[in-house]
Amino acid sequence: MSLYDSLDQYIRQSRPRFEEWLGRLVEVPTVSMDPARRQDVRRGAEVAVEYLRELKADATLIETGGHPMVVGGWVRDPAWPTVTVYNHLDVQPAMEPEWTREPFMFAVDGDRYYGRGTTDDKGPALTALLAAHFAVERAVPLNIQLLWELEEEMGSPHFAEGLGRAALLCKPDSVVVSDTIWLAGGRPAAPYGLRGNLAARLTLETAKREAHSGLTGGVARNPLTELAAVVAACVDAKSGRVTIPGFYRSVKPPGKADRAQFLRSGFQVAAFAAAHQLTKLRVRDRAAVMRRLWAEPTFEVHGFVGGYTGPGVKTSIPPRAEAKVSMRLVPDQDPATLFALFRKHVRKLNPDVRVEADGMLRPYLADLGGPYAEALQKALRFGFGKDPVFIREGGSIGAVVTMAERWKAPVMFLGLSLPEHGYHAPNECFDWGQASGGMKAFVKYFEEVSRIPVKRRMA
Ligand SMILES: [Zn+2]
Repeated sequence: MSLYDSLDQYIRQSRPRFEEWLGRLVEVPTVSMDPARRQDVRRGAEVAVEYLRELKADATLIETGGHPMVVGGWVRDPAWPTVTVYNHLDVQPAMEPEWTREPFMFAVDGDRYYGRGTTDDKGPALTALLAAHFAVERAVPLNIQLLWELEEEMGSPHFAEGLGRAALLCKPDSVVVSDTIWLAGGRPAAPYGLRGNLAARLTLETAKREAHSGLTGGVARNPLTELAAVVAACVDAKSGRVTIPGFYRSVKPPGKADRAQFLRSGFQVAAFAAAHQLTKLRVRDRAAVMRRLWAEPTFEVHGFVGGYTGPGVKTSIPPRAEAKVSMRLVPDQDPATLFALFRKHVRKLNPDVRVEADGMLRPYLADLGGPYAEALQKALRFGFGKDPVFIREGGSIGAVVTMAERWKAPVMFLGLSLPEHGYHAPNECFDWGQASGGMKAFVKYFEEVSRIPVKRRMA
């Protein structure tokens, strides 16, 4: 009897459990960046441990300096390959006025599941869990470890520390991350690269209190004007080209294979602009848009703080100002090196400006070829009836780089979210089509990966 004979039936029978478990998890508001939700985040981790134990998996809660993380699974035979499945169970805040339902009340509407965290990332986590359970029950010769973080939405500040403490985790041969978005429904997409990030704050103080421009103007230094000049010397506002000396030195431009994948991706500029409600773009050429989003670095200003922001114009000179900026980085740019270049540049422009880093993440690039990419392709075709397109992500997932570097293992992406699911947006949802297809895809992926030969480590 083939492994897949009973899979459709298993998936059908799993639906009530999937819905009940997702509902219970969504109703725990695991908003990691909100200090008032600390107990809720812990409760979310405890519920996850309960689910794992109900499926007879090993499960523990790992304490870190921040929120805990959950590690569990079925590690049965050291001779088998081991895969680690990464998801996160913390969620974004849900304060947007556009919510039409209670964000932390689970609602089912036909095949759709509503609530904060349904698609990012609780639904995909439970999809992977139920698929892993099936694979284990049907004796697929693979050790499956589940790793559920609860600080992803705040940039994974204690992830590396947590991995160091997770005695139950053994070094996997490969990792699969389920936390990414397709370009469109019906068209599976598998990212193979992520941009990195470097955030920084520029601050300048030129007086102890605000001064009247009629009394001091012409002599008093204006920190807002000076910070604006610094920023203008870091990036060309029209083209977006970064003008920090040495910024592009280690950029690896996309190769022929990358560009071919991009063109095959089905990416549409108009749909992209509509999805993000962008009314004006820097470029409209399709290839250029994809290259800029996935394979080129950026410099953005997120906020200028300081001065008068009330109605009308108050003619005072502010005493201090702050600019919040960040740079998305691409392979092989190193955030620490770039921060040094940036600071040097700013010092030269204006030695009174204080430059402080506010988070760094390295970019990531997986192998486009090789057995794991092939397994992923087969899995997505099996689950959704269509070959996936391989794309890159403009965003960053800190945990990915940490896992790749710590374990020297390939990290693949089997994401299940769709653009209409409202990732990080109001009225977030997930759906049974993605969950059931996702279970099929994960089971196939586990079986394929169990057959990839691995170098056995000496004990
Ligand atoms: Zn996520």
